[in-house]
Amino acid sequence: MPCNGCTQCCGSNQGLFLQPELGDKVESYRHRVVTDEATGNPIFLLATENGRCVYLGDSGCTIYDRRPALCRSFDCRKHYLILPKQDRDNLVKLGLSSRAVFDAGRARLKSLSAEERKECVDKREEFFS
Ligand code: SF4
Ligand code: SF4
Repeated sequence: MPCNGCTQCCGSNQGLFLQPELGDKVESYRHRVVTDEATGNPIFLLATENGRCVYLGDSGCTIYDRRPALCRSFDCRKHYLILPKQDRDNLVKLGLSSRAVFDAGRARLKSLSAEERKECVDKREEFFS
C-alpha cells in the first residue's frame, strides 16, 4: 500500500482490532477487550481519547516491524472501492471508519491496477447488490 507518509489509519479511530488467528500476539500490544459475544469479544489496539493509536509517533508507527496484521493488510483504496457510498457513510456515522481514510483511498485509486479494480468491483457486486 503506497501510504507515502499518510497516517490517517493510525490517527483516526477506526476500531483497529487484533487478529490472533493471523498471528497477532495480543499480550505484546497495549489493547482492550470489548465484551460483546455477538461480535466475538473483539480485541482492539489501544487508542487515545481522540482515536490516535498509542503506537503512532511523530515519524509514524513506532512498532512498524511488528505492527498488527490489520495494519499490514489494510488498503484504503480497496476499502473505498468495495463499499457502496451508503455503507461508507454509515461506517463514518458509527465511528467505525473515518472520512479521511475514505478520502485517502479515493485519492490513490489510480495506483491500483485494472485487475485490482475489477476484483473490488466484483466484490462490491457480490456482497452488496
Ligand atoms: S488511509 Fe490509506 S494511505 Fe493513509 S495510512 Fe491508511 S492505508 Fe495508508
Ligand atoms: S500499530 Fe502502527 S501502523 Fe498500526 S495503527 Fe498503530 S501506529 Fe498505525
